[in-house]
Amino acid sequence: MTTYGDESVDFKYNKQALVESFINASKDPDFKKLVTRLKVKDEIAMKYTSKLQDSVCELKNCAKCKCLEECKNRRKGAVYYPSVQNNMLVFNSMACKYQKEYDAKLENTAVSFEEPYQIRTAAISDIDLTDKKRAPLIKWIKDFYKKYQTDKHIKGLYLHGSFGSGKTYIIAALLNELAKNGAKTVMMYYPRMLVDLKESFSGDFATKMNLIQNCDVLLIDDLGAENVTGWNRDEILGTILQSRMDNSLPTFITSNLNKEELEEHLSYAGSEKNVLKAKRLIERVNQLTEDMELISKNRRV
Ligand code: ADP
Ligand code: MG
Repeated sequence: MTTYGDESVDFKYNKQALVESFINASKDPDFKKLVTRLKVKDEIAMKYTSKLQDSVCELKNCAKCKCLEECKNRRKGAVYYPSVQNNMLVFNSMACKYQKEYDAKLENTAVSFEEPYQIRTAAISDIDLTDKKRAPLIKWIKDFYKKYQTDKHIKGLYLHGSFGSGKTYIIAALLNELAKNGAKTVMMYYPRMLVDLKESFSGDFATKMNLIQNCDVLLIDDLGAENVTGWNRDEILGTILQSRMDNSLPTFITSNLNKEELEEHLSYAGSEKNVLKAKRLIERVNQLTEDMELISKNRRV
C-alpha cells in the first residue's frame, strides 16, 4: 500500500474542488440569488453545489412556464427546492403555483374516499398513449368528456379487465378533468369504503351516503373485490345504484370481474345464495353503464 504521509491532502484536495465548483456555479446570477435567499454560509452551501444547480435549473424552467401541461421539471407540477435545517440543506419537491391552483380547484369539487395519491391526482394529460390496447378506452373517455359538456345525464362505463391495466387511473383522470370544470365528483375504493361507512354509522354515515348517491359523477372502484354481505349488497350497493338510476347520474364502475362473474360474486352473501338479488343489481349496472374490457400490461410490476 502506498501512503503519502499527510492524510489531510486528500481532504484538502476535495475541499479545493468543492470551492472551485461553488465559485464557478456562483457566476450564474440565479445560483447566487438562491444561495443568498437561503441565508446560509458559503462553507455549507458549497457542499450542495450540484443539487443547488439542479434547483436553479428547475426554477429557470418555472420562470418560463405558462401552465402545468408545459412543466419540464423532474416531477410534474413541482420544483426541487432547498431549505436550511440544522446547518444542512434539505431538498424537497414543492408544488408550483399551477399545481397549487389545480389542487385548490379539485379540493372544492373532487372528493375521494380511500384512493391513493396517484389516483387522486391522475390527469388526462399524463395518460400514457403508447399502449394501443387502451386506444378504444381513451376514445370513449374523450367522447364522454365532450358529450358531458352539453348533457349531464349520460351513461358511464363498466370497465373490467386485468389487474394493473390502468382502469382506475384512466377513469380517475376523467373525473378530475370534469371536477376542474366544476362537476362534483366522488371516487371511492369500494372494498375499503364499505369499512369506512360501517365505522361511520354513529357519525357522518348519512352525509357520506348522500354525497355518493347524489354527486354529479361517481366512480365505484374495484367492485367485486369486497366480501359480500346482505348489508353491503342490498343496503349500500343497491341503494347507491338505485338513486343514481332514478336521477340519471353518470356512474363509473371498475372491476376485475366481467358481468357474469360479478353476478356470481353478488349472488353469495356469505354462504347464503340469492341469484335474484344479484340479477337485479346487474340490471341496474346495465342501465347505468356501457360495458368495456381493458386487458393490458400490468403497470404495477
Ligand atoms: P387497475 O385499476 O386496472 O388495477 P391502476 O389504474 O390502479 O390499475 O394502475 C396501476 C398503476 O399504474 C397505478 O399505480 C397507476 O397510478 C399507474 N398507471 C396506470 N395508468 C397510468 C397512466 N396512463 N399513466 C401513468 N400511470 C398509470
Ligand atoms: Mg383499480
